[in-house]
Amino acid sequence: MKIKCFNAKNGDAIYIRNNEGINIFIDMGYPETYTRYISNDINVIDQCGEVIDLLIITHIDQDHISGAISFLRDIQSEKYSQSILKQVWHNSYRHLSVATKENSSKEDLYVVEEFLNKLSKLNSLISDATISAKQGSTLAGLIFGSGIEWNKDFSHGPIVGVNDVSIGNLKVTVLTPSNYILKNLKRYWKSELCKMKYDFAFGEEEVFDDAFEFYMLNETVLQNNSNSISSDSGECFHALLDNGVLVESEGDSSVTNASSIATIIENDSCRILLTSDAHDNDLYEILYEQSQNGINMEFDLVKLSHHGSRNNNSKWLELVSSKYYLISTDGSKHNHPDVEAIVNLILSNSKKDKILCFNSNLEIAREIDKEELKRRFNYSVIRPIEEWGIEIEL
Ligand SMILES: [Zn+2]
Repeated sequence: MKIKCFNAKNGDAIYIRNNEGINIFIDMGYPETYTRYISNDINVIDQCGEVIDLLIITHIDQDHISGAISFLRDIQSEKYSQSILKQVWHNSYRHLSVATKENSSKEDLYVVEEFLNKLSKLNSLISDATISAKQGSTLAGLIFGSGIEWNKDFSHGPIVGVNDVSIGNLKVTVLTPSNYILKNLKRYWKSELCKMKYDFAFGEEEVFDDAFEFYMLNETVLQNNSNSISSDSGECFHALLDNGVLVESEGDSSVTNASSIATIIENDSCRILLTSDAHDNDLYEILYEQSQNGINMEFDLVKLSHHGSRNNNSKWLELVSSKYYLISTDGSKHNHPDVEAIVNLILSNSKKDKILCFNSNLEIAREIDKEELKRRFNYSVIRPIEEWGIEIEL
C-alpha cells in the first residue's frame, strides 16, 4: 500500500493506493493543493482507465474541502472521464435529518436566504475566494449537481461510526462521528436559524445545504482564530520532554472538528488510522471501546489529529502504537503542530521504535531530528525532500 500525504499548507490531502489498483482520497486541501499536486495523480489514474473508488471529505473546513470543490468543478467541466469518481463520503445538511417538510414556506425560505446573504458578507473571514455562497457552488451543491454517488455505502444517509465497508480488498471502518456527535451538530445548526424566527421549519431545498455549509465554514474560522496561541519554543519542548508525562488536552470546542470522519483503512498486511481533526476525547472513547472489543490497536501508520494541535492529541495516543506517525501541516496559520502534541507523540509508547513523518519541512521537525533525542526516545524522523509532500510505502 502506498500513502501520499500532500503538502496541503495547514490542511489535509491524503492519497492511498493499494496493489490492486484501489484509489482512495481523504480530503484535498486547498485549490492549489489540487491543481499543483493532486490533479497529476488523478490524470494518471484516469489515463490508466482506473477510477477513484472513494473520496472521503471528512468535515466542513476550508483546509479539507476547498481542493475537493476544485476537483468537482473539473469533473463538471468534463476534464476527466465521466466515471472518474465512484463515490463520495461527506456529511452535509441533508444527512442530519433536520428537514421536517419537503417544501418550505415563502417566509422560511426568505429567512434562510437572508441568513446565507449575511454569511456571504462575512466572506472576508474565509480567505479562499473560490468558496462562495452562490447556490450550487458549495461542496454540497457540486456533489448534488454532479450526480455522483453520495454516501451510497451508508444507504445515502449519514457516515457514522462504528461501521465498516469493503472497498475492493480494503476494509474501511468509520470510527467517528457518532450519532451523538451528529445530533450536537444538528442542534447547533437548528438553534441558529430558530434565533431568527422562533417557528422556523427546515425544508429540503438546496439553499439549506448551502447555508449549512457556509455557516459551518464560518464557525471553524472563528474557532481557529480564538485558538491560535502556541508555545513552540525549543525551551518549552525540552522541559516538557524531561517532565516525562503527557500534556493533557484542554479540549477542542469546534463542533465541525468533532464531526470529522475518522477511519481505519486496512487489508491483510497493513492498517492505517486516519483521525482527520477529531477531538481527543472522542478518539479516546472510541479507540478504548474498540480495544475492549478485541480490536487490534497496532497500526502501520497513524495520522495525528488536527494537524498536530495540542487540543486534539493527548490520551488517545497512549491507546495505539504504530510504525509511522504522520503530521500534516506546514505550520502556517495556527502554528501547528504544537510542541505539546509532538511531546505526547514522543512520550507515548516510548519503548517502541517509531518514525515521525512530516509532509512539510518544519522547524520543529529539524529540532527533534537530533541523534541524542532520537536514541533516548526510540524514534526517527522523515522530512520531505520534495515540495509536494511525502510518500510512504507500507
Ligand atoms: Zn483541518
